[in-house]
Amino acid sequence: MPQLQEQDRAVLHQYMDQLVERSYSMLGYPCARDFDYSELYPTLRYQLNNIGDPWVPSTCALHSREMEQEVVDFFARLFRAPEQNYWGYVTNGGTEGNLYALYLARELYPHAMVYYSAASHYSIQKNLHLLNMESIVIKTDARGEMDYTDLEHTVSQNRHRPAIVLANIGTTMTEARDNVAHIRSILQSLALRSFYIHSDAALAGTYTALLEPHHPFDFADGADSIAISGHKFIGSPLPCGVVVVKKNYKERIGQLVPYIGTLDTTITGSRSGHAPLFLWYAIKKYGIEGFRERALHSLELADYTEQKLQEMGWSAWRFPQSLTVVIEKPSEEIIRKWQLATQGNQSHIICMPGVQREHINALLTDLQRSVQQKRLTAVL
Ligand SMILES: *Cc1c(COP(=O)(O)O)cnc(C)c1O
Repeated sequence: MPQLQEQDRAVLHQYMDQLVERSYSMLGYPCARDFDYSELYPTLRYQLNNIGDPWVPSTCALHSREMEQEVVDFFARLFRAPEQNYWGYVTNGGTEGNLYALYLARELYPHAMVYYSAASHYSIQKNLHLLNMESIVIKTDARGEMDYTDLEHTVSQNRHRPAIVLANIGTTMTEARDNVAHIRSILQSLALRSFYIHSDAALAGTYTALLEPHHPFDFADGADSIAISGHKFIGSPLPCGVVVVKKNYKERIGQLVPYIGTLDTTITGSRSGHAPLFLWYAIKKYGIEGFRERALHSLELADYTEQKLQEMGWSAWRFPQSLTVVIEKPSEEIIRKWQLATQGNQSHIICMPGVQREHINALLTDLQRSVQQKRLTAVL
């Protein structure tokens, strides 16, 4: 068997050491890192491919379809999807889930106008461009929530067209949540003949569903589809996500491909069989209660972070039920060291599961030092 050369092995080991370091200082990106999938490592010996529809068997037998079905069932229940009328699959991430949902909405309403807020994730614009769908950007308030007055006004000017509205359940920068029940009531009050609401819940969907008071964003609140990222709150070594839609819509899409023996109802052809397996494992291990506890623990840390920053005099705020603490932008050095996503004068810290007090305290020490330095230079 060929072996790695010594020098290449050294490169690999150095790379692996770097990962430990970089994982320690990742406070600005919303990826949980407290996961442990070591029990699944033996499955890495196999190429698992869930090509095609999770519910339609394929002639390719190395897969994790049954687990994928359970994952979709779990999220359908969590998001209160109509019991006999949902469908979904494990995607490559939130972007693909949004793309699939928009594709579905376009097949239903080819002449619709799409409305999305200025705080939406960049994947929305790209997806709309790929699908060649017409759209209008809706304003947000200063903290990133959709401006419903602007939505109402804008939709009312296009009342002759079906409306597709994208709601953010946790915007990328501030974790603002749009209110799906409110959006639905606006669309109903304008007496539109047809409309479709998609919740882009990539960031916060999983834990938002577990917290009280309930934030209106799911199927029972008026959503027609919901997409989440699996590698964010749940955590996974592979980027992944889940999209859930109403089944009667989905039946418009997908043709039988004799070659694979299943229905081609997904965006990509070959799909990871490991990603559904990881999600299945996490769901079985934690269950609803375990996920809720994990979310509450992270919320506590976010609260601690916000308070400590305010005590220090560093401008900081966060929404209730939010793991994102928005802060005044620190120095470039600190942004780089702690991998803080930054836009304009704002940066953010995200207390995803796996972030601990120890990490936050180390960042606080760096910030405190920079405050003192600033004072010192001001005196000089
Ligand atoms: C992360 C994110 C996405 C994109 O998800 P990926 O898993 O990175 O493809 C889309 N929308 C929002 C709000 C996000 O936070």
